[in-house]
Order: sequence, then C-alpha cells, then structure tokens
Amino acid sequence: MTGIPEVSPEVAKFVSSERGMLIDGKWQPAQDGRSFATYDPATAQRLASVARGGAADIDLAVEAAERAMRSVAWRRMTPAKRQKLLWNLADLLEQHAEEFAELEVRNQGQPIWLARDLNVQGSVESLRYYAGWATKIEGTTATLSVPDERPLGEFGPAFHGYGVRQPVGVVGLITPWNMPLLMAAQKLAPALAAGCTVVLKPAEETPLSALRLGELVCEAGFPPGVVNIVPGLGHEAGAALVAHPKVRKISFTGSTEVGKKIVEASANDLKRVSLELGGKSPVIVFDDADLDRAAETTAFSIFVNAGQMCFAGSRLLVQRTVLDELSSRVVDAAREWTVGHGLLESTRLGPLISEKQRARVLDYVEGGVVEGAEVLVGGRAVDREGFYFEPTVCVASDPSVRIAREEIFGPVLVLTPFDTVEEALEIANGTSYGLAATVWTKDVSRAHRVAAELDAGFVWVNTNLSFDDTLPFGGFKQSGLGRESGFEGIAQFLEWKSVVLGL
Ligand code: NAD
Repeated sequence: MTGIPEVSPEVAKFVSSERGMLIDGKWQPAQDGRSFATYDPATAQRLASVARGGAADIDLAVEAAERAMRSVAWRRMTPAKRQKLLWNLADLLEQHAEEFAELEVRNQGQPIWLARDLNVQGSVESLRYYAGWATKIEGTTATLSVPDERPLGEFGPAFHGYGVRQPVGVVGLITPWNMPLLMAAQKLAPALAAGCTVVLKPAEETPLSALRLGELVCEAGFPPGVVNIVPGLGHEAGAALVAHPKVRKISFTGSTEVGKKIVEASANDLKRVSLELGGKSPVIVFDDADLDRAAETTAFSIFVNAGQMCFAGSRLLVQRTVLDELSSRVVDAAREWTVGHGLLESTRLGPLISEKQRARVLDYVEGGVVEGAEVLVGGRAVDREGFYFEPTVCVASDPSVRIAREEIFGPVLVLTPFDTVEEALEIANGTSYGLAATVWTKDVSRAHRVAAELDAGFVWVNTNLSFDDTLPFGGFKQSGLGRESGFEGIAQFLEWKSVVLGL
C-alpha cells in the first residue's frame, strides 16, 4: 500500500521485543513462560508478542495490589498527592500522544484522527478530570434521633453521627478492544483517585497501549503494586481475576454475554461489580427534524470506529413520511466514509478488529437479507488485505428481525419506518438493551416527552455522541450495571461507612 507512514522509531522499539506484565512495579514474563501474538487488523500481520497471564500471574498481581493497599506509601498518601500523580500521568501521556495514537492505530485499526482526538486526548482528559475528584471525596454528618438515655441536665448532643467514603480495596479492571486506551484510562482514573489499587486486564486483541501506559504509570511516580497490568485471555487471566477472593470489585466493559458470566462468578464472594455492556441504540427521526444534520450525524454515530462502539446509533427509526428523503441522505453520507488504512489522514473507516468480527458482521447482513431486509449501500467485505467491511445501510420494515434487534458491532445501520410517537417508542424500547438513544425533532415538548420515555442511560436530542466526563454514562436493562464518569464514576470505587460516637 502506498502513502502509509513507516513505523515510528518509538513504536518499532516497543513492539520489537516481547512485552511483559507489570506486577509490583516490575516487568516480568508469565510464570509459565507462555505468550500470545497480537495483530495489526489493517494487514492481518503479527504486530507483537505479549506475555500470556494465567491464574498464577493474576495471583501475584492481586497480592501485590493487596500489599500496596495496606502500605503506608499508598494508604497514607494524601488526596492531593494522588491528584498530583494522576496529573503527572496525564502530562506524560500528552507528551507521548502521537506515539500512543500510532500504537492504537497499528493494534486496533482505527483512523488516526479518532485515535488522537477521542482515544488519546479523551484519556488525558479523563485522568485530569478524576485527578480533581481525589481531593473532593466527602462524607456527611447526621443529627441522630436515637433516644438520649443520659440523666437530665447533661448538656450537648449524646451522639456524633457521621459517614465517610473509603476506597473499596483491590479492584480488577477488565477492558474491551474497541477503544483500548480510553477504556483503560476511564477505569484507572476514578479507581486511583478513590485510593484503590488495581489489576488491569486489557483485551487480548489490543494489549499494547495499556502496557505502554504501564510504563508511564511507573514514570509518574505511583508506588509499586498500586497499578498492576496482566495481559492475557478472557477465560484465563480475566476469569482468574474475577474469581480471586482478594479482589473486592470488578469494573468491566465488554459484551453482555461476558458481563453475565462475571455477575455469576462474583456471586460467590459478593464482589462489587459494575458493567458497561453492549447496545442497540435507536436514533428516532421525526418528520419536522433537520434531515441533513440527522443523516450526517447518524452516519457518524454508526460508522465511527467502523461501528465498533457500544453507543453506536445502529437503528434509525424514521417517521414514514420522510423515509425516502432521509434514507437517500443517509446513503449519500455513507458513501463519504472512505475506507482505508488508519494511518492515512484521508481514511474515515478503518478495518474491523479481526477476521472473526468481519465474518460476524457479514453473517448479520446476510441473515438480515434472508429475513426480508434490503441493503441500500455496502453489505460486503472489502476485497483487500486486512479486515475491512463496507459502510452499510439496510432497511428492515420488521423491527423484530435479528439485524434490527441484536448488537452487530460493525458499520451496519438498519432503518425502520414508524408512523406514530407511540410506535417509535415501542420499537426503540423493544430490545434487551438500553445504553443510548437519540431524538431528532424541532418540537421541544415532544423531545422532552420522548426522552423521558426512552429506556436508555444517555439520551441526545438534536445532537449525537456529545460526551463529557461530568455526565455519568451507562446502561439500562442488559446494557449494564452502574455508571462511569462524573461523581457516579468514582462512587463505584468507594464504600460508605457510617460511624456513631456516643459522646
Ligand atoms: P468481550 O466481552 O469479549 O471482552 C471484554 C473483555 O473481557 C476482554 O478483556 C476479555 O478478555 C475479557 N473476558 C472475556 N471472557 C471473560 C471471562 N470469562 N471472565 C473475565 N473476563 C473475560 O467484549 P469485546 O468483544 O472485547 O468488546 C466488545 C463489547 O464491548 C461490545 O458488546 C460493546 O458494546 C461492549 N462495550 C461497551 C462499552 C460501554 O461503555 N457500555 C464500551 C465499549 C465496548
């Protein structure tokens, strides 16, 4: 392929030798010496070799995290110092932003603009946002109604009641492959701001950015054992982390299927669990909407990162009177999504993560056609090296077909017409998911009423994908448990303790 930049010296150096795991501040191979390969999805070529963590490595990492949790260095560290360390990490990441962006493109396939603007910059911002929270964790005092049994004449209150929040302890962070660095940073930042210690298990498809971040964690000055990173497979390292009795909490982002396994596995010792899972998010367009903007932003929502986004607007519910007008605009918008290597600045749509993922996307589209859906544009794998798939728009009149109900996690938009508000809501809420939803209308009252009725953790009106670290994000129904971002995001890593003093 022409025009693709050479591998930079920093990235070349990082991938040239086997990457180990970070345990207790030291880089080491797996206990049993095993490793696994990680690939470049744009070429299907092996990119690097990585230590393959197993139960024994997870045990070492959890023990190190447990020691760090009890250590004077971490336990007695002031919130202001934790803030400073997180800020140091953010600064270091910013200094190495271009290297991280390239590493993400080479390991995950996403276009370089997305890697820079969302993945890396979003991680820097998340670290700084939660650095600020470290010094703002507050409790409360309470005036108690407990009967005062003291003899009459004694002055002042009989009790002092107060509540404090304290770190939950050792936490396991398990992340997916779609936005690797950001997913890791959005968990690390609140966990560390809260004063927890962590074992991070990045997705096996994309372990490199987390491992490089581990080097910066050491440079930033975190005491050994506070952050441990164990790459490996889900059913090995991931399952061992969830099963470990000294892990107090699991924060997981990934598929609903694995999320359910984690809930089951953590029932044994009642670990705290927060889950950011899948979605099949509806975009509802009423006939009074700005159709040009609705079409353009919906295309962005479904094609950004090749549709491998949990909150992708993957179902476009269109009021029937504007179906033709909107679908032609969406098809035109889809054609603007130039497919190419992520390191070419002209690329808007990079490859999918793997051959398996591409086969899954194709299977959904072919199955949709069998069930009566019509492909308006795209619908095929791209005939070139790497795991590319065309930006695809389909129409499915029946919202109960698989392609309109299940998460595909690829660049496939499904249009379904509706006639009334009630029908739009019934279709929108008619899946097992409830992550995000979008409404397009100029009628403010209708916008508010529809937003109120939607089963979704995040609703956009006349905009799409506007996120902010201050706004909690997460799912209703099978899209998750708990919220990330905002105070809700750090509260997940804190336990409440009520204290009553008899005075
Ligand atoms: P996945 O569930 O297959 O894997 C996610 C992580 O879980 C990986 O690190 C994997 O190794 C690990 N894992 C797998 N089996 C495990 C087990 N038995 N025990 C413990 N850990 C295990 O998901 P994926 O394919 O990597 O990511 C795609 C999914 O993630 C999609 O469904 C997407 O919607 C979801 N996602 C959700 C959000 C959100 O914020 N809600 C964000 C990004 C991705």
